[in-house]
Amino acid sequence: MEITWLIILLGVVIIMIIRGKTRKKSSYAEENAGELHFNKEAGENIHLSSPLVYYGENLDFTDDVIRKVLIKYFPYFNRLLPPDQDKFLSRLRKFIKTKIFIIHDVKGYREMPILISASSIQLTFGLDKYLMAHFNIIQIYPQEFIALEPMRILIGNVSGNTINIAWKQFLEGYKNRFDSSNVGLHEMAHALYYQNFETDEYIDKNFKNCFQVVTALGDRIYSKEKERSIGLYSDYAMKNFQEFWAESIELFFENPQRLNSHYPELYNILCDLLCQDPLRYPYHNYSV
Ligand SMILES: [Zn+2]
Repeated sequence: MEITWLIILLGVVIIMIIRGKTRKKSSYAEENAGELHFNKEAGENIHLSSPLVYYGENLDFTDDVIRKVLIKYFPYFNRLLPPDQDKFLSRLRKFIKTKIFIIHDVKGYREMPILISASSIQLTFGLDKYLMAHFNIIQIYPQEFIALEPMRILIGNVSGNTINIAWKQFLEGYKNRFDSSNVGLHEMAHALYYQNFETDEYIDKNFKNCFQVVTALGDRIYSKEKERSIGLYSDYAMKNFQEFWAESIELFFENPQRLNSHYPELYNILCDLLCQDPLRYPYHNYSV
């Protein structure tokens, strides 16, 4: 009799341990991640299978929720002065409202649309046009995903009117602040270029004009880096100018000191292009 009870007790303990482990694994954005819910008043259906589809206009996050998520995960927001934080929140809300978020997982967390949109707001914070109107769909994958034609494994890309991002790698980009790698900023840099050079609408003329200087300067640095004289950029950035541009943006925000010390001309022209200066904020001449 005693042995039977012992076996039952042991079984209960094992089940509790297994359940605890599974719960930990399923949370992508750490322990306090708030699950997304459709705005039922808007008459949307609750999706129980993957992918989840959220229309930004129905995602009614309060300022308090957005602020909490940003304070916890988004160092850029924490550095901003209070009036700039208000501007950031206002832009973020508008950005989210114009997008459709497709999440390729059975669970969506509120951090997903908030933080991925925040990386776009970070990049364009000094610019007048920040909605990236051409890209109305943002797809979020839990981790690396397979893209077709040609078939390859990606952690992010921009295709048609869609921005695709792997959530695990996206979070790592903001967690490791000084590794100069950030897939969110990388893909937003591609999207910003595409928005201004490949579409006919919502073009920022100042950005376009200034970008010519970036291209000329970039060409010189690109050749220098190809000879591996400094090695600031990865091999992937040497693939073509687009990748060089996207990686320059990662360096600009993640490791501005290093970019500025090796290539001050490029750092300064990126400041002029984006109307912000991560090294000297808030003591700089740009009105962000
Ligand atoms: Zn790229």
